[in-house]
Amino acid sequence: MARIPDPNYDRDINRLVDAYKRGILAIATELSRLDVSDISRAHAKAALAEIAAILRDINAESAAWVAEYVPKAATDGVARAIVGLGVANTLAEAEKIVKFNRINREMVASAIADTQADLLAVTQNIDRRVRQAVRQATAESFRANMASGINGRRTINADTLAGIRKTLGQATDTGIIDAAGRRWKPEVYVDTVTRTKLNSAHRDATINEAIGRETYYAQISSHGARDACRNWEGRIVKLVPDAPGDYPYVGDLPRREIFHPRCRHVLSPVRSPENIRGGI
Ligand SMILES: [Zn+2]
Repeated sequence: MARIPDPNYDRDINRLVDAYKRGILAIATELSRLDVSDISRAHAKAALAEIAAILRDINAESAAWVAEYVPKAATDGVARAIVGLGVANTLAEAEKIVKFNRINREMVASAIADTQADLLAVTQNIDRRVRQAVRQATAESFRANMASGINGRRTINADTLAGIRKTLGQATDTGIIDAAGRRWKPEVYVDTVTRTKLNSAHRDATINEAIGRETYYAQISSHGARDACRNWEGRIVKLVPDAPGDYPYVGDLPRREIFHPRCRHVLSPVRSPENIRGGI
């Protein structure tokens, strides 16, 4: 069997992460242009409109990226299965004959929707924080101006201005909180979400293709992992719970140990697990 290189989406993911970084920087720049000594409602509104346009661009780029790369990862997963099962000799040859079966079509559609929703939450979060910060900064600036009038001083003190700038500055740096309550920088979150989703689309596509070809076992890839995954490298798993033999079912594997977020391990289908070293 041809040695199949593990998929690597680093460059594609970096391109998407860069789009978020650029967008966040553009938003921070937009906020820093506000004259904190006198933020008018009109200025605040204009800045928010610019920011909304930046977020729309990020969303459009991100949705298109997901619609391209989730199917690509699934295609790679199917191609790996086809080569692993000897239906094609090389990945290039396999890629030409890849066709999603029904389960894979559904899997890809739902993986696209899930990933887009996760990424949309990032920009929605930024949008909410920025609006809140601008509202707060506008109110603080207004109050400071009132107070300076009352005091007979014409300028707002430096600490107050620094405080308003800080309010605006924090809007883009606080990040997103996930379901488990962990706080992420937006770009790190985007990187983790996309890496995790592409790899799971790849594995699911391999599994679905293998089952479609009446193959019910697979071997976990090896790349010399140092985390808990290392204990699983080269191991044989069942792709359906009822397949005969004393192998763990892929759906029951402990997620803390293997196929965790950012996990790069993939599967190669195996027709007869007893012929493979690495089985239990
Ligand atoms: Zn892993």
